[in-house]
Amino acid sequence: MLGNINSETMRATNLQVIFDYIRRNEPASRRDIAEFGGLTVAAVSNITSKLLANGLVVEVGAGESVGGRRPTLLGINADCRYAVGIDLTTKQIKLVITNFKAQIIQECACETPLDCGPEHVLDSMARMVKESVKSAGIDPQKVIGIGIVSAGPCDPERGIMQSPPNFPDWGNVPIRDYIQEHTGYPAIFDKDSVGAAMAEYWFGKVGGCGSAFGFLINRAGVGGALLVDGEVFRGFNGGAGEVGHTIVDVHGAKCSCGNYGCLETLVNEQRLVREVATGLKMGRESVLDGIEDYDSITLKQIMQAAEDGDILCRNALDRMADYLAIGIRNIATLFSPEMIVLSGGMISRYAYFTQTVLKKAKQRQREKFVKCMNVVECSFRENQCALGAVALVLEKFYRSIQLD
Ligand SMILES: [Zn+2]
Repeated sequence: MLGNINSETMRATNLQVIFDYIRRNEPASRRDIAEFGGLTVAAVSNITSKLLANGLVVEVGAGESVGGRRPTLLGINADCRYAVGIDLTTKQIKLVITNFKAQIIQECACETPLDCGPEHVLDSMARMVKESVKSAGIDPQKVIGIGIVSAGPCDPERGIMQSPPNFPDWGNVPIRDYIQEHTGYPAIFDKDSVGAAMAEYWFGKVGGCGSAFGFLINRAGVGGALLVDGEVFRGFNGGAGEVGHTIVDVHGAKCSCGNYGCLETLVNEQRLVREVATGLKMGRESVLDGIEDYDSITLKQIMQAAEDGDILCRNALDRMADYLAIGIRNIATLFSPEMIVLSGGMISRYAYFTQTVLKKAKQRQREKFVKCMNVVECSFRENQCALGAVALVLEKFYRSIQLD
């Protein structure tokens, strides 16, 4: 009996190894797959013939001969399945539909009707899904599921959002079940920081890394997720990865979590705007000093001024980047991940800030404890989290493939 379980488990593992290799390296020959996975060509052929019969994989031509017949190359069948990814923020609902290769075939966004309450927002999301599937002109039967990511804390097991500070009145909202019931597709719900990291692992630079940490830096806060061999390390009660709530200033301001001086109280739009406004009120020179109301200055104006060389704005941004670099250094010291990825609106929209953070993070590397601090910018900018939601759907589907 035990022998059967082992051989079945091994076959399932081999299937995933083969599928993952094709996905990342297509076009791929059976010989290359066998070499990579430490399998016999016969074992690979056995599984790939089933993948071909199932329509998940297709033959895509012939490769170079290494003596004898030219090998037939295999690739993923892009249009055999589709997945929906949704990134829900307080500002907007971003939706993408991808094919089985995670190429975006449809995308749309709308403002989040936050003031109208959770049910109205969820209803908008469900309607967006149905309309987008229709306008993409795809077979609804081929949609394997919907991934949704949003601010934490959340319970991914039950698909419930648990009162994130920026979503007032969203205590225990059953997002996953609502979307499933109102669209008819299976759904998954998880934190946006998990989505951002998963997008990088599945489709971006982190692929193949044994360990990686993803930072998600948005206007209102900092999230994080640790990936170990592509799996999210959740810790006890799912609380792992919350780098935004690590304390970096014991004299700091109160945070939404109840502590003082958390990283996200220092890497935060409101704080930055306040610091620049205070400088202007004190008579510091700046290109922004002609603005009528200093309290109405926007993040965009500060970022632009910094980019143009404004000293007041650059100093304020530098301080924010310093704290973020401390957070990065702390993560590198604790986990020593192979790669640290930065994503989120603050990163994808503002190149000067991103470059400053990357430079400061590098300066903080001390080889004695941190052997390597490979910090990179994310691959998908504004679509990072929505594609991460797609990754969650694809991962679940890959794990459930049964060929018999
Ligand atoms: Zn906190």
